Amino acid sequence: MIDIVKEYGVSLPAWIDDELADVPAVLPGREERMHLVHRLADRNWREGNGGPFAALVAEQDTGRIVSVGVNVVLASGISSAHAEVLALGLAQRATGGWDLGGEGLPAHELVVNWRPCVQCYGATLWSGVRGLVVAGEGPELEELTTFDEGPLREDWAEQFEARGIKVTGDVLRDEALAVFRTYRQAVDAGEITVYNARGGSE
Ligand SMILES: [Zn+2]
Repeated sequence: MIDIVKEYGVSLPAWIDDELADVPAVLPGREERMHLVHRLADRNWREGNGGPFAALVAEQDTGRIVSVGVNVVLASGISSAHAEVLALGLAQRATGGWDLGGEGLPAHELVVNWRPCVQCYGATLWSGVRGLVVAGEGPELEELTTFDEGPLREDWAEQFEARGIKVTGDVLRDEALAVFRTYRQAVDAGEITVYNARGGSE
């Protein structure tokens, strides 16, 4: 018989408990939600779990926090273990299914510290969220962090809107850039591993 692995899983790091210890269950303001995302993103790379990225899923109207996610590519050894994928999957586990927009559920939004990469663009489209809130978009993320975000369509935001997902941008944008800049200093100092897609010639 072929010897194959039959299961894989990803988990949030143990330090998430300390970070959430003083966070109320409900964060009514968009900026409060994003502030938490920035805090998690900053701690995440320092702890060596993965890149400086975090996300959360909240009930859009009340601000009740349903899940959080951080990038655990390095910790898990799974290349798709981005913050958005964890936050969405954990929210789906918490709400009982694959559709966060399902019948009887309140509208959910995904809050992320930058525009999603090409993978998380798809993951967000299929998740059932009704809103995507990002701190920013544009080339600064790739320039500062050196990560390759993939060939995202120019009309990515319109594609979300066409599927009933409202996009809100520029929420605590400068704070996002501050996290990326600090991360870059550590990269330049040779202190951390940047994982990335393979280049075309290799
Ligand atoms: Zn991603």
